[in-house]
Amino acid sequence: MIPKSHPRYESLMTRELIIEGVKKGITSTQGLIAQGRGEAFDYLIGEKSKESALHAEKVAAAKLLLAKKPVISVNGNAAALVPRELIRLSELANAPLEVNLFHRTEERVDKIIRHLRTLGARNIFTKSDALIPGLEHERAKVNSEGIFSADVVLVPLEDGDRCKALVDMGKTVIAIDLNPLSRTAQCATVTIVDNITRAVPHISIFAEELKCLKMEELQEIIRDYDNKNTISLAIDEIKNNLECLSNIS
Ligand code: ATP
Ligand code: MG
Repeated sequence: MIPKSHPRYESLMTRELIIEGVKKGITSTQGLIAQGRGEAFDYLIGEKSKESALHAEKVAAAKLLLAKKPVISVNGNAAALVPRELIRLSELANAPLEVNLFHRTEERVDKIIRHLRTLGARNIFTKSDALIPGLEHERAKVNSEGIFSADVVLVPLEDGDRCKALVDMGKTVIAIDLNPLSRTAQCATVTIVDNITRAVPHISIFAEELKCLKMEELQEIIRDYDNKNTISLAIDEIKNNLECLSNIS
């Protein structure tokens, strides 16, 4: 048992969720490494959602609400860390879920689908009957009605190659990635440099807030969005955080 008073309680609890995910067979062992990399970056940003992330989360909510065919991609880490939160966002934004795995096995896809359904997910694409061009077969598999034909895709913790392939298909790709330097972060249309555990609930809060706006008002929110600027602000935030820390010691 990790005591609530532990200074790194949240981070350690998140780690436990990933370990549980591996034990249940919904998260891959490589997912543990991805989590470790994420934790390191979260440490650098101060384990809080920064200004640039909150702005990108609001833009993401507006893009999802404006989309004709939004889809939320779910991998093994996302399914372990934020399944309920993803289901809630899926309902709010009217964006079906699609299980999309880098280290794909049909068994793990089925387990994640069952896990999501048990928690109340109603709208999940289950067939893999199309391929993203430019990727090798297993990593390219998607649903023809889902990610393949979506105009906006939310990809938490995506791999750089697949992120680029989706952008090359002309899609708006919203990525959640704590590493502002990763290829995913660099090539997405909207990059949210935040922990998935904070980012998904924030996008839902914004989606709830923005839901009553007119289309033109939503378009106004995304009009001047500049993703390069978001990434450079996120890097500045890390720099500032480190400067503060080095002044203390
Ligand atoms: P890329 O292929 O985009 O260059 P990568 O190879 O550096 O990425 P991967 O191992 O493919 O990284 O994916 C893990 C990514 O997910 C890392 O960039 C990591 O920072 C990020 N990540 C891991 N856990 C979380 C989390 N809980 N919230 C947000 N991002 C996370
Ligand atoms: Mg990668």
